[in-house]
Amino acid sequence: MIKIAVAKGDGIGPEIMDATLKIFNAAKVPLAYEVVEMGKWVFDKGYNNGMTPEAQKTIENLGILFKGPMETPKGKGVKSVNVTARKTWNTYANKRTFQTLHGVDTVFSKADIPIDITIVRENIEDTYGGIEHMLTHDVALSRRFITRPGSTQVIRYAFEMAKKKGAKRITCGHKANIMKITDGLFLEVFYEIAKEYPELKADDVIVDDLCMKLVIRPDLFDVVVLTNLQGDIVSDLCAGLVGGLGFAPSANIGDHISIFEAVHGTAPDIAGKNIANPTALLLSGIGMLQHLGLMESSTLIENALLYTLESGVHTGDFGDKNTNSLNTTAFADAIIANFGKQPKHNPKPSLDDIPYSCTVLHLDKNPMLETTENIAEKIVGVDMFIESNVQPDELAKKCLRHAGVKFQLINISNRGTQVWPTGSRYTNLVNQYNARFESVDGEPLNQQDIIGLYVSLSGDFKICSLELLNSWGDKRSYSLAQGQ
Ligand code: NAD
Repeated sequence: MIKIAVAKGDGIGPEIMDATLKIFNAAKVPLAYEVVEMGKWVFDKGYNNGMTPEAQKTIENLGILFKGPMETPKGKGVKSVNVTARKTWNTYANKRTFQTLHGVDTVFSKADIPIDITIVRENIEDTYGGIEHMLTHDVALSRRFITRPGSTQVIRYAFEMAKKKGAKRITCGHKANIMKITDGLFLEVFYEIAKEYPELKADDVIVDDLCMKLVIRPDLFDVVVLTNLQGDIVSDLCAGLVGGLGFAPSANIGDHISIFEAVHGTAPDIAGKNIANPTALLLSGIGMLQHLGLMESSTLIENALLYTLESGVHTGDFGDKNTNSLNTTAFADAIIANFGKQPKHNPKPSLDDIPYSCTVLHLDKNPMLETTENIAEKIVGVDMFIESNVQPDELAKKCLRHAGVKFQLINISNRGTQVWPTGSRYTNLVNQYNARFESVDGEPLNQQDIIGLYVSLSGDFKICSLELLNSWGDKRSYSLAQGQ
């Protein structure tokens, strides 16, 4: 018996989890469950991360969490327990598999276009850090972190998974044409790792083009790896291709702890009515069984599910509207009644996960992920984000007075568009500028120089934030303003 942690979740969570575990129990799946306290009601009890300390300890000891969807309380300043769980336990790869399910009609199934796409979404970084500030009354800032070690972890997972899956193609979705440094780093790591997998065709597609291509020819894609937010959006698009969120499973894979859950949320509009579709959670559970190496159980349940769907049995959210729909419990019973039956369209068993070790590695310190590059690093300037509603020329005049002998004012931009020394009168302004100062003749600066400039400027302005301008060797480590 393998022991796993189970959190039933909020809204439809308990209904679909009970249905799924009923199927597991009927299949005599060799798992023991420890139910943990996580979700909205735990926030309400005063735990700000949405889980009790006992729940955290149990999950860290067992290494596997099977969870229902959880609601994030609105307007209480608390963060999503779903995101907190993924980040706290470094489940860096969010694997979402989208396959044609016979019995679930879509435009593609009707056109006989098969879909078998696995999206691997980076799960920790990006705007999901949720590091946000109001810089002025009008200007909000979200910090987007993309890191080399974080990108390496998820991209390596995607390549390994693609290789085990026997995939022919692995695609990186990105927006490196615009976000040259952040998405550029993700893409650079992708092609570095691709060199180690010559048997896989590795290519990249800009994310907007990717969305169009997925809708036109989804059968051309195999494994797609993306940063967090883009991966979130693209995977919901893929859910739509195979019939909707009711059919979208998800695995959050980490080196020590993994979380299995459906992509959809708590569906408050249908909660408590026993009409929710448990398929996405059941598919996530099947993925979990495969991850745990319980192939016999997973095959029995997957075949019964596919047979049931092929037979036209359905819950209210899909299927033939002219035939009666089943409620959640009856749908689970129909699957149980079909144990041992073979679907016409056999599933390919998923053997693509990193092998699970039943022994959870206990850590006595936080792992530090760091790569080193032997290149001289120097500070060559600073971006000062200044609150001001004066015209660019007037702002420049004041800034120039503070530049002193070490700094030169290079340019001033507003929302990323240069407005001084050249610009256009047609560029709308908001009350925050970026004044870019660089060292005279590229001389290296130190942090005291930056603080000196900060103190001087602060006599005239409110400085909302600043960013150092670094260079590594000859390489600039910051973007240019539009028009610079
Ligand atoms: P949702 O996925 O809960 O619902 C969107 C629509 O899909 C609704 O009409 C709902 O009835 C339907 N739907 C979803 N799952 C279904 C199912 N299994 N069977 C039948 N119909 C289903 O999205 P939402 O309304 O935007 O979010 C509701 C709550 O869920 C929010 O608090 C959100 O933060 C949370 N959420 C949690 C997770 C998670 O736990 N991983 C994911 C997404 C959203």
